[in-house]
Formats: sequence, structure tokens, C-alpha cells
Amino acid sequence: MPELPEVETVRGDLALLLKNKQVLGVDILNEKSAKPSAKFLKDYLLGCSFLGAERLGKLLIFPLDQKLFLLVHLRMTGQLIYSDGLDTVAGGHLDHGKQITFSTTNLPNQHTRIILHLSGGATLYFNDLRKFGFLHLVDHKGLELAKKPFGIEPLSSDFTVKNLEKLLFGKKQKIKSFLLNQKFIAGLGNIYVDESLFLAKILPDRLAGSLSGEEIKKLHQVVQKIIKLAIKLRGTTFSNYLDSRGKKGNFSDQLQVYGRGKQDCLVCGGKIKKIRLFGRGTHFCEHCQK
Ligand SMILES: [Zn+2]
Repeated sequence: MPELPEVETVRGDLALLLKNKQVLGVDILNEKSAKPSAKFLKDYLLGCSFLGAERLGKLLIFPLDQKLFLLVHLRMTGQLIYSDGLDTVAGGHLDHGKQITFSTTNLPNQHTRIILHLSGGATLYFNDLRKFGFLHLVDHKGLELAKKPFGIEPLSSDFTVKNLEKLLFGKKQKIKSFLLNQKFIAGLGNIYVDESLFLAKILPDRLAGSLSGEEIKKLHQVVQKIIKLAIKLRGTTFSNYLDSRGKKGNFSDQLQVYGRGKQDCLVCGGKIKKIRLFGRGTHFCEHCQK
């Protein structure tokens, strides 16, 4: 699943290409990939123009004219592929099992669920192997509802040490589970949580409410630092993710614990441990983290 930096990379690339493009045709090849219903999406998306692209956590939000918003939930295997005959820009996940090739040719293919025909001869494909993702057309009220489950954006002015302290106060859950929960902080996933906890020197199974003032300050600082750097490097390439230009992200080279189980810790030389914590592969160094 892509995390905030990967979705931000897709957003930035598509914002420029989709701006002012009008939807001239909608083909829905899998009804469940369209919400609130295939008929609604088709009827109301037709004729709308894209105004830009925004993001909240891992949710892509495309404001349209006519006071509507197209929400794209990529979930496990969703991809957005834009093609205008000259440029092909793709973002999201690789086809399952393939390591590098992105399905930007021979479109639509067997994983294409929705096709938007746009002005200027452009086409936007929504591909989704496992069909957990979907396109959701909403009005302003629907957008507010969709935003509700999301907590603080780590790059927004609301993400302050004080607010983080407030959120953590008295929490009995483990810090890793707290950081993964989108209703507290939006957009962090497994990779950036493991990396943040390593840099902040905090063990993933510590109780969230047990962090000291110093630890909270450090955690706040490294979360922002990691997310900013990952966006700059266009995300991390892991099992099945490519950025919206079909390129691998470069953050992989920066990973200090994620995916490095049993390897030497880059700080102390001890062995990086990998365990499962609430079903998620969790990487840490028990010497460096307390
Ligand atoms: Zn270490």
C-alpha cells in the first residue's frame, strides 16, 4: 500500500496534467469500483472538468467544477494511469508479481475497472487487480464526511509537538499501532512508522502514553523529516509500487530498519530484529531503541 509520500508524488504529477481536462466519457468495467453507484458516477462525472488534485493522508481528492469531488481510494492494488498519446503517467501499484514493468501499454487491460475519456485526447485509467480500491464521486457534504476519519496531516501546521502530546496522553495502545491509526495522524504506514521510531529511538511496542516529553519532541521532528525527504525522493519503492511517472522511488536507499531484518544496525552494528506486531512486519534495533 502506498503511503503519504507516494500518494503525494502521484498527486503532484496528475495535478498538472488533469487541470482543465473535461470528462467526455465514462466506461465502468467493474460496478463495485464506482461509488456511490456506477450509474451516479457515470451520470454526474460526465461533463465535469478537473480543477486540480489534492490529498488527505492516502486519499486522493480531485476537485471538479459543478461543485463535485472525485475521491480515489487506491487501497491495496489501485493504479491511476494517464495517457494523452504523448505522455503516459502512472501511479500506484505495479501489477502483482511483476517487479518493474508498469502496465502503461496495451490499455485497457484485464485489471482496468474504470476508464475516463478526457478532452485533448487524454484518457485516465483506474486499474485495480484486487478490486479493494474505488472511485467515489461526492458533493461538498460527502467530501466532509470522507475527511472525517482522518487525523492530523503530518505536514500541516496542526501537527505540533503540543497536539502530538495531547493525542498521546494516557493512550494505552502501543506506539506503533497509534502511529498507524489514520484517525490520529493521517498518511503514515508501516515503512515510515518503523523508520520514525528507529530515528526517535523508541521501541515499537512501548505504550503510546508512556513517551517522555523529550521523546515526543524527537518523534515529532523525525516524522516530519522523513516524510519531507521521502516526498523529495518520490517515495519508496517496495514490493509493488511505482510512482506516477512509472519510476521507482528513491527513498529505498535511505531505509535504516525497514526491510533490513537480521542485517546489521547502521548505528550500533547489532542485528536489526523483525517481528510481527498486530499482523504487521515490524523492524527495530533493540539496542538503539528504548
Ligand atoms: Zn542499533
